[in-house]
Amino acid sequence: MTGLSDSFQRPIDYLRISVTDRCNLRCIYCMPAEGINLLSHEDILSYEEIHQITVAAADLGIKKVRITGGEPLVRIGLSSLIRMLSQIEAIDDIALTTNGTLLSQYADELKAAGLRRVNISLDTLKPDKFKLITRGGDLDSVLEGIEAAGAAGLNPIKINMVVMAGINDDELIDFANKTINEGWHVRFIEHMPFNREMASSSFLSVNEMRERLASLGALEPCTFKGNGPAKYYRLPQAQGTIGFITPVSEHFCFRCNRLRLTADGKLRPCLLSEQEIDLRQPLRQGISDEELKRLIKKAAESKPRQHNLARGSVPQDRPFSQVGG
Ligand code: SAM
Ligand code: SF4
Repeated sequence: MTGLSDSFQRPIDYLRISVTDRCNLRCIYCMPAEGINLLSHEDILSYEEIHQITVAAADLGIKKVRITGGEPLVRIGLSSLIRMLSQIEAIDDIALTTNGTLLSQYADELKAAGLRRVNISLDTLKPDKFKLITRGGDLDSVLEGIEAAGAAGLNPIKINMVVMAGINDDELIDFANKTINEGWHVRFIEHMPFNREMASSSFLSVNEMRERLASLGALEPCTFKGNGPAKYYRLPQAQGTIGFITPVSEHFCFRCNRLRLTADGKLRPCLLSEQEIDLRQPLRQGISDEELKRLIKKAAESKPRQHNLARGSVPQDRPFSQVGG
């Protein structure tokens, strides 16, 4: 097999890069109310360091990059990083996952810098509930962000909704209707039990979500652009799509194609395993490009066969917002 692969012969061509652990929201499923212990400025990789790692990864076979966080748009000058990454010839797709609150400010410059598309996290269409779920956020800022992303041509825009029983599951139909009436591409995500403050009773499986949507008609399987684990469907007469992501009820590890780079420079072979390989210290000690590639290969080769979320095994080392989702 050419390119990068792990020890189970899975091709690895996708790098998720967390550029910050900071966030302007405090979503109940992602962060504790009081926030997290933040990394210091020196702990965070510079854009030059991220670029250097991505060049080495691209030489090995990484073709797609996603920028995430924390909230990536709270880091100053993100467009300059996008511009640097877009000049790496082997990288053919650069995408961003954002909470959308700052997107109306940055959509045009991100597009001009080479960003292709965005995923926007949005768990409710009700302003009061948005405040509750994000602990204080403003829904309008996200809706404006979605508009601005569309106007800037950051397409397709995917809307990610973490579905939680008793919290926002009453809005499944409203989000599904957006795929018919406004051509939205919505992805329903099973809630992963990271935050121990949240009751496990808030879990809703994709099968249950599908039952709730049955009144809207048959979901026709379809294909849709992406590098991820979602399975896509279309409702009758819908321009947009509905994707389902099942990290808990049906793991998709057998087709996992990704590595994650944390904001403080650790390569994480699996979101749900605490294993990490440090790149920051070797980089700052001046390792050669060959040595850097050897570490990246080592991370790929050490990807576990699968996670054990269904059996309740959850990493304890970092909050979700530090690993990048
Ligand atoms: N701040 C950005 C955002 O919210 O899109 C990027 C980082 S966030 C950690 C990335 C994704 O992880 C978001 O779509 C978020 O909804 C998802 N996420 C966070 N905690 C989760 C959980 N416990 N279960 C499922 N998805 C989660
Ligand atoms: Fe911030 Fe995204 Fe986590 Fe919400 S899901 S707290 S927006 S990092």
